[in-house]
Amino acid sequence: MESIKENLDNVRKNIEKASEKVNRLSKDVTLLAVTKTVDVDAINEAIENGVTDVGENKPQELDRKYKIIGDKVNWHLIGTLQTNKVKYIIDKVHMIHSLDRQALCEEIQKRAEKIERTINCLIQVNISKEETKHGIDEKDSIEFIKNISSNYKNIKIKGLMTMAPFTEDEEEVRSVFRRLKELSLEIDKLQIDNVDMDVLSMGMSNDYEIAIEEGSSMVRVGTSIFGARNYDKK
Ligand SMILES: *Cc1c(COP(=O)(O)O)cnc(C)c1O
Repeated sequence: MESIKENLDNVRKNIEKASEKVNRLSKDVTLLAVTKTVDVDAINEAIENGVTDVGENKPQELDRKYKIIGDKVNWHLIGTLQTNKVKYIIDKVHMIHSLDRQALCEEIQKRAEKIERTINCLIQVNISKEETKHGIDEKDSIEFIKNISSNYKNIKIKGLMTMAPFTEDEEEVRSVFRRLKELSLEIDKLQIDNVDMDVLSMGMSNDYEIAIEEGSSMVRVGTSIFGARNYDKK
């Protein structure tokens, strides 16, 4: 098996290549290392090799690892977030990637206000319309964002996130990423108060190069850095 360092070198090379292909600068693409099920030693090894941002999909797991590793890395919550779990992460997250409903806004606002923090959030948009995927429908996304802008002062919208469909069809994947980019440009044009469209979180181990070609500014890569996940062992 390759080491974490070798894997990281490879992923970075691929990011570089994909960026060059479309005349982008690779420094405009943040590599978010997805550390779900990965143990603390391996995460620390990734950090020693230059990883600045890590993503977890379970709030309690983020909470547990944060208490050991701390603030030397930016913590992202990338998975579906239940309202009753917000309390585990509110004082730890650098960014939440999965804001997709009003009840979650309410809870984040309430908790953030209490600790006097503004929480960076991405709106998760369901472009591919797969049943299993979470995220707000594209057609409802602009109204949702306007509502957050007017009503939730401790939520700072930084951009959009999506998941590609599980398919081998590269063109289908590409069209989902392309559509998210277009949507972010449409929203940016509206100049909504307290809303930026700087971050486009899209692309995982299987498809981050395509995502970069289509404008991703943050790729969420787990398997290609840490190897296949073992869900039994934590
Ligand atoms: C697990 C996960 C990833 C990383 O997936 P890999 O295929 O291991 O790169 C990215 N984003 C989300 C939301 C995830 O849950």
